[in-house]
Amino acid sequence: MKTVLEPFRIKAVEPFRITTVDERQHHLTAAHHNLFLLRAEDVMIDLLTDSGTGAMSAQQWAAIMTGDESYAGCKSFFELEAVVRELTGYRHVFPVHQGRAAERILFNVMVTPGQSVPNNAHFDTTRANIEYLGAAAVDFVAPQAKDLRTLAPWKGDLDVVALERWLAAQPKGSVPLGVLTITNNRVGGQPVSMQNLRAVADLYHRYGLPFFLDAARFAENAWWIHRLDPEWQQVPLPKVARAMFDLADGCMISAKKDGLVNIGGLLCVNDDAVAQKVRNLLILTEGFPTYGGLAGRDLAALAQGLREVLDPDYLHYREASAQYLASHLDQLGVPVVRPFGLHAVYVDARAMLPHIPPTRLPGQALACELYVQGGVRSVEIGTLMFGHDDPKTGLPVVADNDLVRLCLPRRVYTQSHIDWVIETFAEVHGRRHDLRGLEITQQAPFLRAFTAHMRPVAETAPVGDLVQRG
Ligand SMILES: *Cc1c(COP(=O)(O)O)cnc(C)c1O
Repeated sequence: MKTVLEPFRIKAVEPFRITTVDERQHHLTAAHHNLFLLRAEDVMIDLLTDSGTGAMSAQQWAAIMTGDESYAGCKSFFELEAVVRELTGYRHVFPVHQGRAAERILFNVMVTPGQSVPNNAHFDTTRANIEYLGAAAVDFVAPQAKDLRTLAPWKGDLDVVALERWLAAQPKGSVPLGVLTITNNRVGGQPVSMQNLRAVADLYHRYGLPFFLDAARFAENAWWIHRLDPEWQQVPLPKVARAMFDLADGCMISAKKDGLVNIGGLLCVNDDAVAQKVRNLLILTEGFPTYGGLAGRDLAALAQGLREVLDPDYLHYREASAQYLASHLDQLGVPVVRPFGLHAVYVDARAMLPHIPPTRLPGQALACELYVQGGVRSVEIGTLMFGHDDPKTGLPVVADNDLVRLCLPRRVYTQSHIDWVIETFAEVHGRRHDLRGLEITQQAPFLRAFTAHMRPVAETAPVGDLVQRG
């Protein structure tokens, strides 16, 4: 049998409206060619993000009903605390409203202005929370991650050689902690190997630095270690996950990913003194430490989500879904980033649309066309998101790559939904030479991708001599 079954039946359905190409063209124009400005009800297949978009199980919905809403010491907290302690082994468990709250609180407690925090690659909000404190967020992306098409297995790894050189050169006391993000979201959700986890832990600890995991996708990382590393193939997934957590001194978790909930997060620490400071700040901004800005029912649903996410049948199905989408796109000749991660498939729009120069936003052009053609919402990860106009010269600075990310919400779409996405690509790929670029007509000074207005341009000739690399 070669079909990998979705290991669940559907008990509640959420109908969406089937729209026409003409309707979607109208919606896109009204949204100024910015997919963030669409109404979600005008999207059929929403692959914008895997964050908070998953489907909860019947057991999680049951937990919602039995959640304890007491202000202090609620039963749901102790249930969650027990599950998280068993999963991670960490002594102090703090619920927070989402991942960035864990980041803000931990960094406020540990980081002072002028310091630097290393990581394999900081996620956007992680970087922003460090920079907001006047500190620097420094990335050590593994060399094998630079090539988008090679099939190297552990592209999420941290470049340990570069980190060691860098640590040796830092003034004493200037690095308050070290972080490692599993899986590595910024490089396409690529996993970190157990060897790398060990080497990074060893290096941070040799320099006397507390080591924290940014573990939003811990289950997906554990799955790849279990699948690809012979040392871990016979080991049950909870043991693999525990081995990763055991290497670190604490973690930040956005539960909107592998927590299988729509909202929530966790901050876990071993150090009692750090925990005391975390507790004080948590009370100030999130709430009492036994609810941390969440409802009791949210805590109960998260506890159940964490019990479910390391099920090998679920993770196998998740791998099969990503593999199915990635390999079909590959067969169509669509340039897919390799290897595929579990939470998303990335398409290299710059390679697919070479007639659209990066300044004309090939990623956004492709994302818009996928929406018009199939009602599929994806997101550009490229020049619209990371590019800007140089303040000195006024010239556009383009991103390293122009990608389109197709995120896979957990347990939400069936194989025929994914077939629809593949057929949409077949259509768009067949007439890719007719796609036109976009120009920005209005943009904010920061994070322009969320609110920019754009319009299609007629001209597709390279404006290459006006481009700076950034
Ligand atoms: C999503 C995410 C965060 C931030 O979490 P939120 O719940 O969105 O605040 C931090 N790190 C990584 C790796 C993430 O994927």
